[in-house]
Amino acid sequence: MNTIICDLCPKHCRLRPGDRGNCRVRTNQDGKLQTLVYGNPCAVHVDPIEKKPLFHFLPTSKAFSIATAGCNLHCKYCQNWQISQRPPEETNNYDMPPEIVVEKAIETDCQSIAYTYTDPVIFYEYAFDTSKAAHQKGIRNVLVTAAYIEQKPLKDLCKYTDAANVDLKGITDEFYRKMSDATLQPVLDAILTMIKLGVWVELTNLIVPTWNDQEKDIRQLCRWVYKNAGPDVPMHFSRFWPQHKLKNLPPTPLKVMSRAWEIAKEEGLHFPYVGNVPGHPGNNTYCPHDGKIIIRRRGYMITENHVINGHCTFCKNSIPGVWS
Ligand code: SF4
Repeated sequence: MNTIICDLCPKHCRLRPGDRGNCRVRTNQDGKLQTLVYGNPCAVHVDPIEKKPLFHFLPTSKAFSIATAGCNLHCKYCQNWQISQRPPEETNNYDMPPEIVVEKAIETDCQSIAYTYTDPVIFYEYAFDTSKAAHQKGIRNVLVTAAYIEQKPLKDLCKYTDAANVDLKGITDEFYRKMSDATLQPVLDAILTMIKLGVWVELTNLIVPTWNDQEKDIRQLCRWVYKNAGPDVPMHFSRFWPQHKLKNLPPTPLKVMSRAWEIAKEEGLHFPYVGNVPGHPGNNTYCPHDGKIIIRRRGYMITENHVINGHCTFCKNSIPGVWS
């Protein structure tokens, strides 16, 4: 009696009155599905857009970044486990309804609002209403997400989403099940839906020693991206740092990071990047037409920019992205 099923993400939690979902933030209250985190972010920061990472979307701009407690994935390596693996009762939360978030974004000179750190899927209603209010004021919206979401709510949210960095954690279902307590196919479907609906998408793959660092894993992932998302989708390889339940592993060796960068190029991807390795040549953007460095970066800082009005200033060819 009064059991409800949450259809927001592929976990489809069955909730009896008083139950919490697997994400810890959605509950059945008297037969109605309620979110416990609407208007109550536990993390609020102004970040460079490069930190998301988004390298082809309004470079050097600032993103007003918010997250609530909870997550529908439970990744063993989570970098934000102190908030993602907690219910909202165990985090320090702000009272910040959507219109205040938009006001703060304007006050702090941010061109976008980023729904990030934990996964915006689980604070869906809050992200949705904030995104809608942001567009009314000319502020853009960015999702930083594992994209473990059902198609219907995703399509609705895409109406107000301008860019996304999707964490493509691996390319096998086995990896998703063991590492994240999730499955692969809904993530692949979500990536393609976002691209189809005109969201600017960049992908991130965290390379974890012994888990997904073999050449065949990286090549298979790049092949899927090339074939399905296309060669122009930026592919960020991120270096693992021991965290949460994987403190026993070493950081990803630099030679593995460099090899991933090379493999992506061999597989035809135009914009592979190496993250969490400051000073690596894979921090920069190279023109796929003339091979020159067109955006040089140091950490999140841009030190040289040769993309003007979306074109390489050397060869004048257009560079995919959202530049203004
Ligand atoms: S969003 Fe939360 S409650 Fe809903 S199905 Fe996913 S894990 Fe379960």
